[in-house]
Amino acid sequence: MNQTKRKVKEQFHLFLSNKGLKGTLQRSLILDAFLDLDRSTHIDELYLILRGKHPNIGHATVYRALRLFASAGIAREINLGDGLTRYGVAGGRRHDYLVCNDCGTVTEFENGSIERYQAEVARSMGFTVQSLKIELRGVCNRCMAQAGRHS
Ligand SMILES: [Zn+2]
Repeated sequence: MNQTKRKVKEQFHLFLSNKGLKGTLQRSLILDAFLDLDRSTHIDELYLILRGKHPNIGHATVYRALRLFASAGIAREINLGDGLTRYGVAGGRRHDYLVCNDCGTVTEFENGSIERYQAEVARSMGFTVQSLKIELRGVCNRCMAQAGRHS
């Protein structure tokens, strides 16, 4: 288990005990799957991944677990305006997103020079940034290749 994963789990257990909640086996399976994925995901995707290995886990359980992870501060909700709530592991670095308009695939990326530039622009205008999100929309490689084949 890597360092981040251990820290996230400790944070979650602390949250549960502060709330007087017990850690359940299902919750911990869901948390493992979420952390192992190591990228943002949404409820249906995570449910399908889990169902493959643990047929007893229900959709509603996965949903409630993700909401609980968000309240515990170990998952952050990502809303890209397409009606789908995605969840990413919180506490990591801020990520920017490439969103494919065709297949809806979301790819996270980070680029230190973009961040530094943003901070510089804000500072020069006397503005304090509290949150930000970069979302680049377009067509992913795969969709582009497919479009090429069909035309
Ligand atoms: Zn695509």
